[in-house]
Amino acid sequence: MTRRVRVTILGVLAVCGVLVPAARASARTTVVVKDKVVTIKVSVDVFGADALTGPDGQPLVDYWEKIAEDTWNAAFDRYPYCNRYKLRLDVDLRARSRDADDRAGRHRLHVTAPRGGTDWQGVGWNGVPETNPQPGSGDGTRSFNNDRVGTIPANAPPTIIVHEFGHLLGLGDDRKDGVATSGRDGTVMVGGVAGVDPTKPLRIDKELVDRIGTEITKIENEVSCKVALWEGTTHGTNIFPTFIAERGDVVCHVTVDGRFNFAVAPDGKVTGTSTTQYDGYDCDGYSGTTPTPFFGNETARGFSVSTFVAGTGGPTQFRRTGDRAHGTYAVHNADNDYEYTFDAHCVNCDDVNVS
Ligand SMILES: [Zn+2]
Repeated sequence: MTRRVRVTILGVLAVCGVLVPAARASARTTVVVKDKVVTIKVSVDVFGADALTGPDGQPLVDYWEKIAEDTWNAAFDRYPYCNRYKLRLDVDLRARSRDADDRAGRHRLHVTAPRGGTDWQGVGWNGVPETNPQPGSGDGTRSFNNDRVGTIPANAPPTIIVHEFGHLLGLGDDRKDGVATSGRDGTVMVGGVAGVDPTKPLRIDKELVDRIGTEITKIENEVSCKVALWEGTTHGTNIFPTFIAERGDVVCHVTVDGRFNFAVAPDGKVTGTSTTQYDGYDCDGYSGTTPTPFFGNETARGFSVSTFVAGTGGPTQFRRTGDRAHGTYAVHNADNDYEYTFDAHCVNCDDVNVS
C-alpha cells in the first residue's frame, strides 16, 4: 500500500498527502500534561517485527523503542519547551505478525527487508493529509489527529528511527529539493539530504523541541507559550517630616495612587511599568506623576518585582491566588512612614492558562 516516491539520494522521507484514506481520528500520538510535564505517548504496531531482533539481540521493537525514547528524551531534558514544560516521550511499540489486523488508535509501521548501503528511499510515513499545517514548515498535527501508516527497513540505523519518530511528534522534514532548509544542516529532521550519512547521528536542537511544543499547543489547551498580562492599582500614604521655609518643621501627608501593568513571560520573567500619582496636598512640592519601569520574576507564591512605586525601596512581593495578586509595602523609619497596598488581576490568564 505504500507508494514509493523517489526524492533524494538518501531519502528518509515522509511521503505526504498521496494516499488519502477516509481518515478516522483515533488514539494516534497522545499528550498528557501533569505539573508542567508533557508526556507524549506514541503507540505503534510494528507489522513483521514479531520474529526480528535488533543489533543488541533484544526484540527489534524494544531496540527501536529505546533509541527513540533515549534520544528524544535527552533533548527534552536539555531544552524545556518554552522554558516552562518538560516534554517526555513514551513510545509503546508492539511487534505484530505481517498479516495481523490493523488496530484503530495505533500508528502502523510495516517492516521491510533490510537495505544496503545508502538506499533508504521511500522510508517513512504516508497517508493522512495535514489539516493544520504550521506556516513555513512541514510541521502539523496530523500525527496527533490520526493513525499514520509507514514503512521502515528492518536494519534502519538509529538516525532514521529518531527521524521517523520526529514525524510522529508533529515535525515535518527540514529540507527542500533535496537540500536542508536554512540553518537546519546537521539536525535530525533534514533526513536524507545530500551529504547526510544516516549511520551517523544528527542533532536535535532547541528549535525542534520548541516546534514540537508549538504543535502540542494546538491540540492541548493546558500547554501554552503565551505571555500573561496583568494590570492593577495601588493606593497608600507616605507621612514624613520635613522643613518648609515659610512654615518651618512640618509633617507632610502624601497620598499615593497608581496604576500599573506587567507581563509574565513563559520563563517567569516579569516586566512592567507603573504610573504613580502623588498628592502632597498639605505640602507643596510633593505632588506629581512618576512613571517607573519595573522588572522581576515569578516566585512560588506570586511575583517578586523591583520598586514599582517611585521613591520606595524594593523588592516588592505579590502574593498570587489564581488570576489575582496582591501585596502591601511598608517602610517605617525616621524619614518616612510609607504604606501602600496593591492589587492586580490577570487579564488573559484564561487564555494563557498558566498556573
Ligand atoms: Zn522525514
